[in-house]
Amino acid sequence: MNLLEHQGKQLLASIGIAVPRGDVADSPDAAGAVAAELGGRVVCKAQITSGKRGKAGGVLVVESAAAAEAAAREILGSDVHGHRVRRLLVEQAVDIGHELYAAVLDDPVSKGPVLLFSTAGGMDIEEVNATSPESVRRLPLDIREPASTEAIGAMVRDSGLAPGSVDAVADALAAIYRLYVDADASLVEVNPLALTTSGDVVALDAKVTIDAASVMRQETRLADLQGGTPSSGGTDLERSGAELGLSYIELGGDVGVLANGAGLTMTTLDAISHFGGRAANFLEIGGDAYTKATPALDLVLSNPNVRSVLVNFCGAFARTDVMTDGVVNAIEELRPDVPISFTIHGTGEQEAIALVRERLGMEPHDLMDDAVREAIANARSDREVSA
Ligand code: GDP
Ligand code: MN
Repeated sequence: MNLLEHQGKQLLASIGIAVPRGDVADSPDAAGAVAAELGGRVVCKAQITSGKRGKAGGVLVVESAAAAEAAAREILGSDVHGHRVRRLLVEQAVDIGHELYAAVLDDPVSKGPVLLFSTAGGMDIEEVNATSPESVRRLPLDIREPASTEAIGAMVRDSGLAPGSVDAVADALAAIYRLYVDADASLVEVNPLALTTSGDVVALDAKVTIDAASVMRQETRLADLQGGTPSSGGTDLERSGAELGLSYIELGGDVGVLANGAGLTMTTLDAISHFGGRAANFLEIGGDAYTKATPALDLVLSNPNVRSVLVNFCGAFARTDVMTDGVVNAIEELRPDVPISFTIHGTGEQEAIALVRERLGMEPHDLMDDAVREAIANARSDREVSA
């Protein structure tokens, strides 16, 4: 479960990490009132469960209450990375001296938590990792033990941070780790963790993910959060998917995917990536293919990045001709204007292939690899044409 920034900050504050003063607002008037109460320069921030808001216009620094109201009018209701903005965090602007990066997350390599720290904060950590990987320090921790203050201190000292700030930053990192443990988090990321011009350590952003299996155990802590227990978040399309009972996850690419079964879907995503393409979504329509094919295809096509669609069915107990009939009906109804590639194997494949040939005039691929390659090429050529 992903918490919103203001909720994550509430948790950070509860363990003694400084966060800017502020409050949430769901209207321009309310934003103006919060800004007036704070006085001076304020930051208006879209409360959505997605990062990189700054670059997408979801974070605005303004000089007055009137400007905060105007900023709120701009951000509220707008679309930031597929999320409709319904709430803002309006908080006192901080004079940043230096932006640091701090996070504790589940590490698949050490199979435990790892503390990450970098003096190159503010930017995406992926970017930092790509451009200056040496600046990212990693400290694997043993979940059964309290973190060693010495080890954390040494990591911060090694990073080249000004000696005067080392202790305060190390204390903040130790606190972030305690929060990760106490809240059953799989991620606590503070980017930027700011060193202010007056030398204070302040968390300017917070991304906290609570392990889904622990949400019940964390009930009290979550119920205390402002705004109540958070929804599971997700983009607007992901929420529509959940409402339809479909496991739909938006990914960053342009090849729409429709497959049956989570395993085959993951395989399809791997194959797309293997051949140099980028999938636009995970969508597993399982045994419901026949009844949910139309809303499922509609969901895939509603992602504006989709330039081609790949349908990959593999039948065992579930018959591929039944699934294919559903998808062919959906295509006839929705008449997508992007090309579709098919590959169908297993129970009922002869009948399924015949359906695609006869009703759509298309030829499914014998090999999954060929269908994947075609879908990637279709997505590319379409982009070139429209560019
Ligand atoms: P993200 O883009 O979703 O990660 O949003 P952040 O909360 O990290 O904000 C993006 C950027 O806005 C930060 O890296 C800062 O440079 C800037 N920012 C955020 N809060 C403040 C603030 O209080 N004062 C100043 N000067 N800049 C801020
Ligand atoms: Mn950030």
